[in-house]
Amino acid sequence: MTLHFNILTLFPGMFPGMLGHSLAGKALERGDWSYGTTNIRDFATGIHKSVDDTPYGGGAGMVMRADIIEKAFLSISKPGKRIFLSPRGKPLKQQLIKEFSLENNITLLCGRYEGVDQRVLDAYEFEEVSIGDYVLSGGEPAALILMDACIRLLPGVMGNEDTADNESFGANTGGLLEYPHYTRPSSWRAANGTTYDVPEVLKGGNHAEIEKWRKEQSLEITSALRPDLLPS
Ligand code: SAM
Repeated sequence: MTLHFNILTLFPGMFPGMLGHSLAGKALERGDWSYGTTNIRDFATGIHKSVDDTPYGGGAGMVMRADIIEKAFLSISKPGKRIFLSPRGKPLKQQLIKEFSLENNITLLCGRYEGVDQRVLDAYEFEEVSIGDYVLSGGEPAALILMDACIRLLPGVMGNEDTADNESFGANTGGLLEYPHYTRPSSWRAANGTTYDVPEVLKGGNHAEIEKWRKEQSLEITSALRPDLLPS
């Protein structure tokens, strides 16, 4: 079983972008995931091939037309789950990514300009997903982020199936942030003259103690940086 992404975009050249590299790139070559882009402009009519028009009710900017997006959407043979990347959408969290990574087909609609005519989102039941409380100029970077987070959860992509559960927001981390990491050298003198040592407990080889220390660190860091993630 592989995960296939259909991407509805005005900028197909943005894909696979960063996902052609590293773990995701290797997984793409192996066929663990695949993607296809549909250029919305290919479905526009008229000499100017415009895909947008002025908003009803007035206001700034242009709105992507429902009829043109519909034609582009209907050209996809297996759309599967429909997602519209949008700042007003449901926040993209690890739990949502886990659910998406179990799908076979996902269609990602990337908006541009002021956004997309609401009617096409309603007609084809697009779920709105946001990557954060800020406004991008288009949905493509958001789509790439969603795809990247899903791809690394696919079987075999990270090598060790348990890795994701031990990371920030993972099941073994209790949904908290991860503890700090250290590697060699055990004592490091930075250019600012300060010497930084690896915590003794990590060098002792006592796995129970290490586990306890990591849990404490995870709790401490989460309490300081993201108290909203603490269990209520
Ligand atoms: N007028 C919209 C608003 O105020 O919410 C913003 C439109 S934005 C300039 C153009 C497109 O970028 C959106 O339709 C959406 O597809 C994408 N986009 C912008 N910010 C995003 C975010 N935080 N998460 C996901 N997609 C986003």
